Amino acid sequence: MRLTTELSTIAIPNKEIAGDWEAVREDDPSINTSSDEVAEELENLTERKAAEELLEKQLAKVNLALKKIEENKFGQCEVGNEPIEEDRLEANPTARTCKTHLEEEEGLAL
Ligand SMILES: [Zn+2]
Repeated sequence: MRLTTELSTIAIPNKEIAGDWEAVREDDPSINTSSDEVAEELENLTERKAAEELLEKQLAKVNLALKKIEENKFGQCEVGNEPIEEDRLEANPTARTCKTHLEEEEGLAL
């Protein structure tokens, strides 16, 4: 799966929590780092962490969409159970709500 491949370039799977990933540091052979380098490294890690969280979220949504396909619930709004508009699904196949309930999607549990 492409998202998993992308995730594995910046993160490693958490052994304790299935489906959770942890951002990894870029390998730096020079341990002798100045505070500037440390700050840069930290910024880098923070960026990676943000990217990792975004990918993890996307992956969770893809897995959820796959599960909904299995359960014959794909394309069904999770708030009101009505069919999700075709153009919305086309633009975002992992959409979980119809346009009416768009604002409630963020609050849905993964
Ligand atoms: Zn709805």
